[in-house]
Amino acid sequence: MKKNLLKIAALSLAAIMSIGVLSSCGEEQQSDDNNTSADASPSATEKLVMGTNAAFEPFEFTTTNGLVGEFDGIDVAIALEIAKSMNKELVIEDMEFDGLLASVQTGKVDMAVAGMTIKPERLESVDFSIPYYTASQVIVVGADNTDITCAEDLKSDKKVGVVLGYTGDSIVTDTLMIDESNITRANRGIDVVQDVKNGKLDAVVIDSYTGRALAEKNGLKVVEDPEVFETEEYAIAVKKGNTELLESINKVLNELISSGKIEEFAQQYN
Ligand code: GLN
Repeated sequence: MKKNLLKIAALSLAAIMSIGVLSSCGEEQQSDDNNTSADASPSATEKLVMGTNAAFEPFEFTTTNGLVGEFDGIDVAIALEIAKSMNKELVIEDMEFDGLLASVQTGKVDMAVAGMTIKPERLESVDFSIPYYTASQVIVVGADNTDITCAEDLKSDKKVGVVLGYTGDSIVTDTLMIDESNITRANRGIDVVQDVKNGKLDAVVIDSYTGRALAEKNGLKVVEDPEVFETEEYAIAVKKGNTELLESINKVLNELISSGKIEEFAQQYN
């Protein structure tokens, strides 16, 4: 009722205002015009939110002058390309690796770009893009270490560090079945690698690229065991059923892979 009265008042006002200008001019058209201009405020740039754990050099790490604020790395470069192709602003949410899948599921972030390995159990909670990088696990040991030459050697009462929830954690825990009392779990690779450096731990099992980067920086060495450490594929995780975003991501990844851009990023950050 009230609404109708207001409408009549508005129409009458419009009618009065149009008298003397052009009497055939429709009031309705005039009020439509008013609405259009009222709604025409510029819309803010849409955001594409990337969840990551920025302690995984060379894929994501923090630095004083990164690609996006303090964030830099191969994954940040890839995510920027994705955001650019969607005409969106890339926003990065840094969190513990362990919280990434839940953040994708609840929509706190649009995608997890975190050197994340495609695993069957992860596929139960999220959808993955096409793989964009192949890696494996390595063992980081002290530069003078001679008694750890393969994964099996870790089982002989060695103190082993891993990052909580990473592939290395499940290999040490479930595949090698190392005694719990010999496993140290940290939130960041650098923390356990430091412990190898200062002698608190004998070894760290971690992703190959990160392991090599951390070993080099800390004067440590890397032991490989391709028989035990199978290759794994990194991909981007999105909320289950978000095919629209997944298709945009896959399109960009395909382009970046075939143009050799991802390799270029990898070399740039190694
Ligand atoms: N690739 C490993 C995993 O998915 C580690 C990834 C990471 O630490 N960012 O578990």
